[in-house]
Amino acid sequence: MLKNNLIYLDNAATTLPNEEIINLFNKIETNVFGNPNSIHHLGIEANTYLNKAREMILNTLRCKNHRVIFLSSATEANNLAIKGYCLKYKNRGRHIITTNIEHPSVLECFKQLEEHFGFDVTILNADHNGKIKIKDLKDAIKSNTILVSIMAINNETGSINDIKNIINIVHEFPKVMLHVDATQAIGKIELPYNDIDMFSFSGHKLHGIKGSGALIARKNIDFLPVISGGGQEDGYRSGTQSVALAVSLAKSVQLECSDLIKKIRYISELNSYTRSSLTKIDGIKLNSDEKCSPFILNFSLTNKKASVVVEALSRKNIFVSSVSACHSKKEPISEVIMAIKNDQVLAANTIRLSFDENVSHNDIDIFIKELTNILERIRWNTII
Ligand code: PMP
Repeated sequence: MLKNNLIYLDNAATTLPNEEIINLFNKIETNVFGNPNSIHHLGIEANTYLNKAREMILNTLRCKNHRVIFLSSATEANNLAIKGYCLKYKNRGRHIITTNIEHPSVLECFKQLEEHFGFDVTILNADHNGKIKIKDLKDAIKSNTILVSIMAINNETGSINDIKNIINIVHEFPKVMLHVDATQAIGKIELPYNDIDMFSFSGHKLHGIKGSGALIARKNIDFLPVISGGGQEDGYRSGTQSVALAVSLAKSVQLECSDLIKKIRYISELNSYTRSSLTKIDGIKLNSDEKCSPFILNFSLTNKKASVVVEALSRKNIFVSSVSACHSKKEPISEVIMAIKNDQVLAANTIRLSFDENVSHNDIDIFIKELTNILERIRWNTII
């Protein structure tokens, strides 16, 4: 349980910043305030910290041939990877591939490239467990394909794509680059990051600070910048860098990737515990199968309105998501659950639990008790 008796089960939306990271941010922001692009010694010092932060990220993720482009979010990283790459290399081919369960920051880029820049887009359908079939990917690649963008772990269900096999397939075609949205994967699963051409993530999912993110890309990949100006970040993202955000991001990646096996073991056990408690409650259908990331557990209410339940839980200081924090204000249904389950009721009434190490078994017991009470109390059955 967190301070103020909060039970926070919404870590896929954002995480509580780690105190060590906040202290580090404050220290760097106060003491290393020079502009890293200035040529005087305060600038040189700031630039040294920036480059150390890059090195730390590359070392932690064991990337040898990559560069780090510091950005403001995973959304920005996805935009640079997809639009920046495709617009730079459009003369090599205009066919690009993604999936129907990507985050909107990926899907909207594909839509824009299709509608405004004449790209031919293939959207692969995930199966009912939320995974892409390797054969579908292989069949979709054409002679004019230049980019494949597939997420590692889905933010709503936690389904895990077979990134190792996806890398193998994509690398059979030298003209095709692979981008992986790794926002829900870093610090939660081991991936062969060194074999991925480019991947995106952000700090606030890693107990870090909002406003920080990065695109990690092979050094030989070029981009048309999405944000132009003074040419910072090797010309790929103009604007004075925040050294404190960059250093904090590097520290978050390092902390979240350390002791990964121990963390996964704890969260897996917590997930199984929650899963078995949920299955005892009537009117609940689990959407995340046992092969999904243990950090995310998605279920639907079959005869109660999820938004009402989420609100009632929050009045008890228990925080969960309905749909995804990224669209929950504008969209009443989960596009992802609709895509994989093809069921309007399930898609309109999803609840996502997402765990971290601060969640205890006692928190889950309280959550289950309150959820059961709320479901018994709600009388109406208007669910869509
Ligand atoms: N991709 C995925 C898979 C995500 O879960 C999110 C955040 N929900 C994003 C991208 C966007 O991240 P950010 O909020 O850092 O822009």
